[in-house]
Amino acid sequence: MKIISVVVPVYNEEDNIEHFYQAIVDVFEKLDYEFELDFVDDGSKDRSREILRELEKRDSRVQSIFLAKNSGHQLALTCGLDHAEGDAVITMDGDMQHPPELIPTLLEKWEQGYEVVQTIRKTTEGVSFFKKLTSKYYYRVLNMLSTVHIQEGGSDFRLMDKVVVKAFRRYREHARFIRGMIGAMGFKQTQIEFIAPKRFAGVSKFSPRKMLHLAVDGVMAFSILPLRISLYIGMICGLLSVVLFLHVLVSKFVFNDAVAGWATITACVLFFGGVQLTVLGIIGEYIGRIFEEVKNRPLYLVGRGKPKDLEDEND
Ligand code: UDP
Ligand code: MG
Repeated sequence: MKIISVVVPVYNEEDNIEHFYQAIVDVFEKLDYEFELDFVDDGSKDRSREILRELEKRDSRVQSIFLAKNSGHQLALTCGLDHAEGDAVITMDGDMQHPPELIPTLLEKWEQGYEVVQTIRKTTEGVSFFKKLTSKYYYRVLNMLSTVHIQEGGSDFRLMDKVVVKAFRRYREHARFIRGMIGAMGFKQTQIEFIAPKRFAGVSKFSPRKMLHLAVDGVMAFSILPLRISLYIGMICGLLSVVLFLHVLVSKFVFNDAVAGWATITACVLFFGGVQLTVLGIIGEYIGRIFEEVKNRPLYLVGRGKPKDLEDEND
């Protein structure tokens, strides 16, 4: 029988894990597949780890990895993908917002020969108008800037064949926007749509800060257009300053009127100062990223590996 790995990053999901586990068991009971459930605990501070240990004891198909600290959803997902051993891997959230009932459809598509089955979130029930709006426009802007097309509503709920998972493991950058990376990898991909229900319990673990980081990573990882825009702004300002310089020369030597124009100068200094700082900021953002990548630090540290992998992960 084929084995399907279900990879689930969890961060403080004490009230969801048990329910989620049961839902997965129920789904696979009706299917002709074996499954392994790989939770990646992303440094939870609540009872999540205890619950996961408990589940492991009860059901050997549950294998959890505990990260040494909160490394973020994208890196926790990466850790899960690095350690999943199934013939196909399904990544999903542990809060029931990625409905387990969709798993049979994902598997059907896989059996039809698709190597990546990507889900597209049509809407999310009970999400704020603000989040919907920012998400929509974010994808618009991202696609304007990016060299690869990133589908609006793309989620990290997807099935990947083990061939794709192996290929994905070769990408080792820190700042990652997994849905964009996988979209750009090629292979035989297809999409299915779903409506995300409300979270089963608890609150979203994505703080506005984490959302913003992910959003900036998405843009910066797929585009150097912000740098190019800086260049254009620089060039336009350069042209403007030539015109202004001519104006200065004419004022001085033709009209002998050099003192007037204080307002112009002040405005120019402020304007160019602002432009320079912005452009430096953009350049700085990229340099910061180069610095992060060049350090070549491990993407995540495993506090405790899967029980069946006896060797120490951090060796
Ligand atoms: N998550 C994680 N690390 C984090 C934040 C979130 O592993 O730093 C997990 C979280 O436990 C959940 C999934 O990622 O299983 C999606 O997070 P959440 O539901 O909070 O995001 P939202 O659905 O609100 O976008
Ligand atoms: Mg959620």
